[in-house]
Amino acid sequence: MSTADDLLEEDELDETPEADPALHDYVAGALVQLGSPTSRPAAAPDPRVELMGMSQAELEEFAVHTLGEKSFRGKQLFKWIYQKRADDFDAMTDMSKAVRAKLHGIAKISRLAVAEAHHSNDGTIKFLWELHDGLKVESVLIPEVKRMTLCISSQVGCAMGCDFCVTAKGGFTRNLTKGEILGQVVQAQGYADRRITNIVLMGMGEPLLNLDNVIETMDTAQNQSGLGLSHRKITLSTIGLIPQLEELGRRSRINLAVSLHGSTSAARSAIMPINDKYDIGELIAALKAYPLPNRKMITIEYILLRGINDDVRDAHRLARLLRGVRAKVNLIPYNNNPFTEYQRPADRDILAYQEVLMSYGVHTVTRLNRGNDIAAACGQLGGYKQQRPRTRAAEPETQDEG
Ligand code: SAH
Repeated sequence: MSTADDLLEEDELDETPEADPALHDYVAGALVQLGSPTSRPAAAPDPRVELMGMSQAELEEFAVHTLGEKSFRGKQLFKWIYQKRADDFDAMTDMSKAVRAKLHGIAKISRLAVAEAHHSNDGTIKFLWELHDGLKVESVLIPEVKRMTLCISSQVGCAMGCDFCVTAKGGFTRNLTKGEILGQVVQAQGYADRRITNIVLMGMGEPLLNLDNVIETMDTAQNQSGLGLSHRKITLSTIGLIPQLEELGRRSRINLAVSLHGSTSAARSAIMPINDKYDIGELIAALKAYPLPNRKMITIEYILLRGINDDVRDAHRLARLLRGVRAKVNLIPYNNNPFTEYQRPADRDILAYQEVLMSYGVHTVTRLNRGNDIAAACGQLGGYKQQRPRTRAAEPETQDEG
């Protein structure tokens, strides 16, 4: 292989973050429970304008119409909030004392409270954030050689009810605000020893059900005056809601990952109720029509569940199903957890499944597992908050995955 080819391949890898098998290990999957919004005394409503989460255009609008200043003050605020991670107007030394005093009176830059931060011995950090109403969500920071990936949540809980997913067990509570979505990034960056290079929307919740906030915040994350991430470094994982998927394709260029997890309609419906609404066949058709900027591929996520969908015949069906879709497959051996009966397949079955896909020329990677010692892998987050884990009689606790 020539040097030029080497470079191309390197470059492609770099531009398709979801090609990294380690990426999804940190998928929050999970069920932080959840606290109760009523468990705190109601604070008096704070009339100050929340700046965290605003786009540059919104901050410029705020500067002119609320602050009564020139619009460049908005750009200054944008830099302070997202690039320098300031939450105190007094730090904003390129603004006069008078402007800062005005800001103090009418605006605020909120922080998420760090309820817990767990450090894995492989460098992974799992954050449990407490929101202003006492609810909790998680993010996971994943250091790799060439990347620093942050997995973020988009909702408190999830309404999709996938049978294998621990988050689903706690139900849905509410969408995250724009400030809470970007707040995860800004605050996790404070813990990172390098710049966060990649964001994956693979934590709690279904991002396409919080579509406006997700699209707007990921646009803001791409602004060079702020976090400055390329759309190639941001990946949204969805269960595959077809109308919202089409809207995402029209409005955003970020990478798409789709949780398929079955190779037939019946197999998918058995573990994912959404398949009764948006059938796998329609989903595949929508993926074939999905607008992909040059060179991008859709990532198909496929959880491997022992005895459920891990047979090589499933692999043959999956490979045929994906014909005509510009896709690569990310196999996710199930992360065992105390809240479901599902089990990760044996390694030889995982390999056999992968080999079948590859024999069709399907680009396939299998997720590595990191962060297990702090329960940061898929479906492990927040498990410690769940009240009553199901007990598995006569079965030794396996700690390899959770
Ligand atoms: N709602 C979105 C994103 C959240 S979950 C979606 O459905 O894609 C991100 C990924 O982790 C999904 O593919 C999900 O199916 C997977 N996941 C959930 N629990 C898991 C577990 N215990 N082990 C492995 N993967 C899991």
